[in-house]
Amino acid sequence: MAIKYAKRMNNLKASEIREILKLTERPEVISFAGGLPAPELFPIEEMKLVSELVLNEEGAKALQYSTTEGYGPLRDKIAKRLNGVGIQGDGDKVLITNGSQQGLDFSAKIFINEGDIIVCESPSYIGAINAFKAYLPEFVEIPTDDEGMIMEELEGVLSSRENVKMIYVIPDFQNPSGRTWSVERRKKLVELGNKYDLPIIEDNPYGELRFEGEFLPSVKSFDTEGRVIYLGTFSKTFCPGLRIGWVYADKELLHKYILIKQAADLHSNSMSQRELDKFLELYNLDEHIEKIKVVYRKRRNIMMDTIKESFPEGLKYTYPEGGLFTWVELPKDINARDLLIKALEVNVAFVPGGSFFPNGGRENTMRLNFSNMPEDRIKEGIQRLGKVIAEMMKQ
Ligand code: PMP
Repeated sequence: MAIKYAKRMNNLKASEIREILKLTERPEVISFAGGLPAPELFPIEEMKLVSELVLNEEGAKALQYSTTEGYGPLRDKIAKRLNGVGIQGDGDKVLITNGSQQGLDFSAKIFINEGDIIVCESPSYIGAINAFKAYLPEFVEIPTDDEGMIMEELEGVLSSRENVKMIYVIPDFQNPSGRTWSVERRKKLVELGNKYDLPIIEDNPYGELRFEGEFLPSVKSFDTEGRVIYLGTFSKTFCPGLRIGWVYADKELLHKYILIKQAADLHSNSMSQRELDKFLELYNLDEHIEKIKVVYRKRRNIMMDTIKESFPEGLKYTYPEGGLFTWVELPKDINARDLLIKALEVNVAFVPGGSFFPNGGRENTMRLNFSNMPEDRIKEGIQRLGKVIAEMMKQ
C-alpha cells in the first residue's frame, strides 16, 4: 500500500508516556511515570448520586445536543472559581473543552501556520508539544530556573525573531519540572506580551494543588489587554475521565476558539458537564481538593525524603510546593532512557526527560510523579531507583 499521509503526520510520534504506561500496567511495577491522579480519591459514590439526579431531573437535555460554549450554569461556576487564581471571572468568557488538552490543540490551530514559532519553557509539557507539532511549528525553548522562564532570554528571542506567534507557559507546579514562577516573572511576561503584541497561553492544571507556600496570582490576573488565554481543567482537582476543561479568554479571542470547537466536535459531553455542575452544586469541591492535597503532600514528602536519603550525592532535583511531579538531573553522561531500561528490570518506571524538550537533547533528565502510588511503594521504588542510578554512575 502506498497511501500518502499529510505532511503533519511525519512530525508525530507515539507519546513516550503512553508507550511506557503500557509496560507499567503490570501490577508489580512501581510507576512514577504517568501524571495520573490517585484513583482512590475519585468521588465515586457522589457521582452515582449525581448522575442519577441529572438523568431524573433533566435526562433528555443531558442526552441531547447542546451549545458549543458549554452548559451555562457550569460556565458561571467556573468563572466564580477563577477568583481563586486572582481573576474576576465572567461566565461568558468561558468555553468548556474536552480537557485542557483540547484547548492546547485549538491554540495551535488558531495561531500557527507552518514554520511559525511557538515559544515555550525548556522543558515543557510533552502533550502540548505533541499537540502543537501537528501544525508544523518551529519551537524556541527558553531556559528556565527556579523562578520560571528567564525573561532576559525571552526578550532576546522576541526582539530578534520575526515570526513568533504565541507563547506557551505552565507557571504553576510545571509539568514536568514541578517549578513555579515568581510573581515578578509573571508580570514581566505580560509586559513582554504587550510589547511584542503576542498571545500568551497560560496552562494551569495544577495551581489549585498547592501544599505549602504562598498563593500566587495567575499570569492572566495581570493581563490588561486581554491577550492571555487561560486554560483550566478539572482533571487533577476532580477526575480526568469526565474530560472537562475550559478556555478562559476575552470575547474576540474566545470567539475563535468557539468557531474551532464547533468545527471540531460541536460541543463537549453534555452529560459530564451536567454531572459536574450538579456535583459542584451539592458538594464542596474545595473540601475535596483539600483531601487530595493531604494525600499528595504526604506522597511528595516521602518521595523527596527518600530521594535525599537514597539517591547518589550531587544529583540536582526540584522541590515542588504542589502539583504532581519532581524533576531530576542526572550526571551528564547518564542517559535516562538507558536508566529506564535498567529500572524496569527492578520494576520501577518513570519518564525520561528528553521528550519534554521539543528540540531534543538533555537526555540526562527524568520526571518522577508522586500522586499515583501509595507511600510505602514510593519509598521502595525510589530506593530501588537510587541503587540503579548508583550502579550506572559506577560504570
Ligand atoms: N496541560 C498540562 C501541563 C498537563 O500536565 C495536562 C495533563 N497531564 C494537560 C494540560 C491536559 O489535561 P486534561 O486534558 O486532562 O485537562
